[in-house]
Amino acid sequence: MRAATDAAGRLEALAAEASRLDEADPLRAYRDRFVGAGSSLVYFDGNSLGRPPKATADRLDRFIRDEWGGRLIRGWDEAWMDLPFAIGDTIGRVAIGAAGGQTVIGDSTTVLLYKLVRAAFDAQRSADPARVEIVLDRDNFPTDRYLVEGIAAERGGRVRWIEVDQRSGVDAPALAAAVGPDTAVVVLSHVAYRSGHLADAASLTRIAHDAGALVLWDLCHSAGSVPVEADAWGFDLAVGCTYKYLNGGPGSPAFAYVAARHQAALAQPIQGWMGAADVFAMGPRYSPAAGMRRFLSGTPPILGMLAMQDTLAMIEETGMPAIREKSVALTEFALRVADELLVPLGVELASPRDASERGGHVTFSHPAMRAVTAALWEQDVIPDYRDPGGLRIGLSPLSTSFTETLAGLRAVGAALPH
Ligand SMILES: *Cc1c(COP(=O)(O)O)cnc(C)c1O
Repeated sequence: MRAATDAAGRLEALAAEASRLDEADPLRAYRDRFVGAGSSLVYFDGNSLGRPPKATADRLDRFIRDEWGGRLIRGWDEAWMDLPFAIGDTIGRVAIGAAGGQTVIGDSTTVLLYKLVRAAFDAQRSADPARVEIVLDRDNFPTDRYLVEGIAAERGGRVRWIEVDQRSGVDAPALAAAVGPDTAVVVLSHVAYRSGHLADAASLTRIAHDAGALVLWDLCHSAGSVPVEADAWGFDLAVGCTYKYLNGGPGSPAFAYVAARHQAALAQPIQGWMGAADVFAMGPRYSPAAGMRRFLSGTPPILGMLAMQDTLAMIEETGMPAIREKSVALTEFALRVADELLVPLGVELASPRDASERGGHVTFSHPAMRAVTAALWEQDVIPDYRDPGGLRIGLSPLSTSFTETLAGLRAVGAALPH
C-alpha cells in the first residue's frame, strides 16, 4: 500500500515536471506546426523519419497545380535546375555552418557517400601512393561500412577499423591510433546512430588533418538536431540525410558538402549529364562542371525537396542553438524518467550520460526490448529497436513535447516484464 502510494506520488511529480517544462519551453508552439502532433500517439522516431510539417501539404498542392501543372517543362529553366543548390545553400546556412556554394542536394545518402569517399580516396592516393587506407569505426552505420568496403575492394585500398564501445563512439585517442601516413580518408558519424554519441568533430578533424588525411563527416543524425560548423571546424566533406530531423519525407534526397578548397580537385565516379560543365551542350565527352554541380549525376528529385523547405524555414526562425537547448532538455528529462521508472526494472542506459557527448536520441537496453518495441507499436507508442536489446528514443526538438516523452517512457515501463 505504502509502496503503491509512493509510486503514484513519483508519477504525479514527473507529470507535473513534464507540464512545467512544456510551459517553459520557448519552442513549444512549433509542435503544432506538424501533422499529427495533436493526437495521443507518442512518436520517438523523428530521428529516423521526421513528422510532416503541416505547411507541406499546401506546398505540395501548390507545386503540383502551379509549378509542375502550370509551368510544365519550363519549370526546369525557371526554378528547378537551381533548386539543389539553393536548398543546399539554405542547409549550409541554417543547419551545418557552411558558406554558400559548398552544399548541394542530390542522390540518397548512400550514393552521395559513395561518390565523395571514392573521389577523396582517388585524389589522396594519386597525390601520395602510400595513402591506401580508409579509416572508420566498426559501429558506423551499415551503409557507410558496406560502401567503404566496396570502394576499398574496387580501388585496391584497405579498410582500417576502429573498435568502439557500442554505448559510446569514436574519441580522440582511438582516432589518433588509427591514422597515419597510410590514411587516405576518414569516415565518421557526428552522432552515432545507435548510442547517440556526439563526436568532438573539430578535434577529430584536426587529428585526421595532422596525419595528412581527409575527413568525411556523416551528419545524418546531427543535421537539424545538433549545431554543426562545417567551415569553422575545417570539414573536408560531409553528407547527411534530410528525412530525419529535417522532415523531408520518406526517401527525400540527401545533401553533400564539399569544402570550396577541394572542389576542383575531386572527380566523382558517376559522371552524368547533370554534373557536366554545360548541361545542355550534350557534347561528345564528359567535362565536369565547376563548383558543386560536378557532384550531381542525373536529374534531381524535385518533389522530394519540397517538405524539407518548411523545416528549414522553422530552423531559420529558431536558430540551431535553441534547438540544441531543447534537445538537451528532452534527453536529460528522458534520462531522469528512465532512472526512476525503467532502471529499477533492469534497463540500462546505452548512450552517453553526459549531455555534451550526446546527440538528440538515447538508447536503453534490456533483453526484452525487441518484444517491448513490437507491443508499443500496437499501442501507438513508436520508438525503434536496434540490436542488441536497444530501444532507441529519438526526440525531435521541434515536434516532441516533455509530456509526450513521459507518456512514452511510462508505456515502455508498463510493457517490460515485472
Ligand atoms: C539514416 C542513415 C543513413 C541512410 O542512408 P540512406 O542512403 O538514406 O538509406 C546513412 N548513414 C547514417 C549514419 C544514417 O543514420
